[in-house]
Amino acid sequence: MAERVIPLIDQRSRPLDVPRAAQPFLAPGHLVDTRGRPLRDLRISVTDRCNFRCSYCMPKEVFDKNHQYLPHASLLTFEEITRLARLFIGQGVRKLRLTGGEPLLRKGLEALIEQLATLQTLEGDPLDITLTTNGALLQRKAKALKAAGLNRVTISLDALDDTVFRRMNDVDFPVADVLAGIDAASAAGLDRIKVNMVVKRGTNDHQILPMARHFRGTGITLRFIEYMDVGATNGWRMDEVLPSSEVVRQLQSEFALIPLEPTTTGETAERWGYAGLDGKYDPALGEIGVISSVTHAFCGDCNRARLSTEGSVYLCLFAGQGYDLRSMLRGGASDDEIQEAISAIWQGRTDRYSELRASLPEKSPQKSSRRVEMSYIGG
Ligand code: SAM
Ligand code: SF4
Ligand code: SF4
Repeated sequence: MAERVIPLIDQRSRPLDVPRAAQPFLAPGHLVDTRGRPLRDLRISVTDRCNFRCSYCMPKEVFDKNHQYLPHASLLTFEEITRLARLFIGQGVRKLRLTGGEPLLRKGLEALIEQLATLQTLEGDPLDITLTTNGALLQRKAKALKAAGLNRVTISLDALDDTVFRRMNDVDFPVADVLAGIDAASAAGLDRIKVNMVVKRGTNDHQILPMARHFRGTGITLRFIEYMDVGATNGWRMDEVLPSSEVVRQLQSEFALIPLEPTTTGETAERWGYAGLDGKYDPALGEIGVISSVTHAFCGDCNRARLSTEGSVYLCLFAGQGYDLRSMLRGGASDDEIQEAISAIWQGRTDRYSELRASLPEKSPQKSSRRVEMSYIGG
C-alpha cells in the first residue's frame, strides 16, 4: 500500500505583524470586527502536547517521536497569559476557555486558573472560566481545578464502546478512565458539564444512540460535533462528515426532542431538549446539542479569538497565520500599546471560512496545507 504523505507546514515561524490601530480607539467593550461581531470569547492554548493521538486531530503518522514540540521558553508563562487575558477582557471578553493540545498536561495549570480567577469582566462580573480536556487526567485533577477557580469543564469523548474509543484515541486509552474523570468533575462540583463527541461517518456514528442513552438524565449535556477540515494533517474527506441533521434524525428514532432557544448569542450548538411523557421539554432529562460546523456555518455570530501556545492571536479556527503578541509582551510594550494592537487586529477581522468553504477553490490558501493545526491553537 502506498504510504500516505501528509504535509505539515509549520506556520509557527511566520507570525503576522501586529497592525497599528486602523480606526479610532473605541470605548472598552464596544469593539467590533468588519462584520459587526464583538469580541467575547478567548480560547487559550496552554500546550501543543497531547497524550492522545486522535486521528482527526494529531494523527500518529505525523505527530510521531520525531515531531518537534515547542520548547518551554516559547510557551507563554502563566503571568504572560494572565496579562493578555486581562487586556482581552478590557476589549470585551467575558469567557475564557483553556485548551490545547491537552491542557491538563501543562504543569501547575491550577496556578494559572488561580491567577485568571482574580480577573473580572468589564461589567465587574466574575469571568466564566472553562476548560476542554480529553479527560484522561481529570480523575486526578478535578478537585484541585475546581478549588483553583475553574467553573466548568467540557470533556471530549467519541465513543462508549471501549474498542472503538481505544482505536479513536490511538493510544489504547480505556473509556472507563474518561468516565471516571467525568464522575470526578461532577463530584468536585464543576458546573454544567458538557461532553463533546466528534462524529465520523463509518467510524463512530453507531455510538450516537449509546452515548445519548448514557448521558440522558445525568445533568451532563452531550454535544455532537461535525468532523471538520481543520489543520492540514487529518486527511479530511467530506464523505466522512455525518451532518448534524442525520444525528438528530437518529436521535429522534428513539427519543422525543424539542428544539430549545440558544442561551447566548454566538452559541455554537443548536440545542434540543428531551421531552417527558407530557410531550414538553423535561429539564430533568436534559438536552443535547449539535454543532454543525461544516453543514451550517455560524460565522455570522463568531465572537471567538484564539491565543496560541506561544502567544499569537488567531482570528479563526481555519486561519493560516496569527498575530504575534508575545514579541510585544517580551519587547516591553505597555498595556495601552497591547490593548491598541488587540483592538486593531479585531477591527480588521474578516474571517468567515465556514461560510465560504463550499465556494472556495480546492487550491485556495484557506483550503490548502497552510492552515494551522487545531492542537496548536486549541479547539
Ligand atoms: N485535548 C483536548 C480535548 O480533546 O478535549 C482539548 C483540545 S481539542 C483540539 C478540542 C476539541 O476539538 C475536542 O473536543 C476535539 O474533539 C475537537 N476536535 C479536534 N479535531 C477536530 C476535528 N477535525 N473536527 C471536529 N472537532 C475536532
Ligand atoms: Fe489530543 Fe484533544 Fe487533539 Fe485528541 S482532540 S489529539 S485529545 S488535542
Ligand atoms: Fe468562527 Fe472561523 Fe469557525 Fe467561522 S469558520 S465560526 S469565523 S472560527
